Amino acid sequence: MKVQAQICMVLNLDKCIGCHTCSVTCKNVWTSRRGMEYAWFNNVETKPGVGYPKSWEDQEKYRGGWVVKNGRAVLRHGGRAAVMSKLFSNPSQPQVNDYYEPFTFDYERLKESLRTRTAPSARPYSLVTGRLMDTVKDGPNWEDNLAGPFAKRRADPDLRGMDTAGFEAFEASFMYYLPRLCEHCLHPACAASCPSGAIYKRAEDGIVLINQDKCRGWRQCISACPYKKIYFNPARSKSEKCVFCYPRLESGEPTLCAESCVGRIRYMGVVLFDASRIDEYACADEKELYEKQLSLILDPNDAEVIRAAREQGVADSFLEAAKKSPVYKMMKDWKIAFPLHPEYRTMPMVWYVPPLSPLGGQDIPGDFFAKLDQMRIPVRYMARLLTAGDEKPIRRALMKLMALRAYMRSKTVEGCEAPAVPPELGLSTRQYEDMYRYLAIADYEDRFVIPTAPAVHEQTDLFSLRAGLGFEDEEGCRTLFGGR
Ligand code: SF4
Ligand code: SF4
Repeated sequence: MKVQAQICMVLNLDKCIGCHTCSVTCKNVWTSRRGMEYAWFNNVETKPGVGYPKSWEDQEKYRGGWVVKNGRAVLRHGGRAAVMSKLFSNPSQPQVNDYYEPFTFDYERLKESLRTRTAPSARPYSLVTGRLMDTVKDGPNWEDNLAGPFAKRRADPDLRGMDTAGFEAFEASFMYYLPRLCEHCLHPACAASCPSGAIYKRAEDGIVLINQDKCRGWRQCISACPYKKIYFNPARSKSEKCVFCYPRLESGEPTLCAESCVGRIRYMGVVLFDASRIDEYACADEKELYEKQLSLILDPNDAEVIRAAREQGVADSFLEAAKKSPVYKMMKDWKIAFPLHPEYRTMPMVWYVPPLSPLGGQDIPGDFFAKLDQMRIPVRYMARLLTAGDEKPIRRALMKLMALRAYMRSKTVEGCEAPAVPPELGLSTRQYEDMYRYLAIADYEDRFVIPTAPAVHEQTDLFSLRAGLGFEDEEGCRTLFGGR
């Protein structure tokens, strides 16, 4: 057992109101520079839809993540030889049209205009060419609140093979918001694909970073990341990505997207995991990937885990934080949070609580679990997003969320002092009370349990703690080419 600590995030999709505050705070701080106009380290998509960049989930097109060959996980876009052959021309790279041509408006004209017969207008101009644009045809959030024709949004890869005929009707349509950021994966394809060995995963907290001095702008990481969460900055010829607001985390504060979240949907905390099993579990059967990833996460109260963690240098502040971790509760205790597209095999560490949705059709009296299949958002669709198509864990999680509502309704509306809870879901009354406290009330101290980085106390050089792929071995950091 090799115990490591990871700071991770859970987002409760049931509560996201699609306000985009998270995206805007992130943009103001991290990507308001020249060359990064189109970069949204955090963006919020409306599902179903093709997302940003367009069809990022289509790995046939972009060839991101890992596949299993001869019992080993290999990058989908190819090994060392393939990466080298694509250095100067990479057909699976997203193009500017897959994002959008960044633009702004001629605001000066509005402010400086002399008196005219007609009101002055602010025309858009391109931030790439500096020329006036006839019209804006695309943007980072073009499908907001189901904007645009369903015919376009139908290209959502998660809808493949589903009968979507009914979804166009107003009464049957459904939507939810999906905020996205770098997943700070346990098995990051970006790091493995970098010919310069510039991408590393910090051993002490699992944050994936790009060493800007080492980055040579080959952009292989952009192809390899299946979530398309690395952006190329043409003004600097470097790739850039979400840094999980590490200067804030090091001083015990949550990321800006989490701190500013209006819906209080984001939770951050530490989990301990067994790094020695990552290579093996990344090759598991597709339908088992969620369970395998879940089993990597260790019980922070287990004496054996604590002993091994201490031996391997996990700081006491991280061990204490892991015991109070809100994300651990949602992932492991209650099993209501899931990784985004585990089938990409990068082992993402930003997880999601699936949303409940209004019931369609006739209401079924009595057994409310039967209502699951009446929900507007098809369980099959959520399972494709969060459990590689396995519907069972999603069903159980949705049932728990429904049972929680019924429990609280009995208590607060109907005045029942001790409502019964469904035994088949395996949660106690106490756990429903806890779930309510975390999911509905969501106090700051409950949502964010972040230890101060040991580096802050000990003035350690964080760069010296870096680890390629997160596991420092005797030879030092592993990169695709075995270098440091
Ligand atoms: S999502 Fe995973 S693969 Fe993509 S940039 Fe982040 S760590 Fe790398
Ligand atoms: S700030 Fe929170 S509620 Fe608003 S869009 Fe972002 S994640 Fe959703």
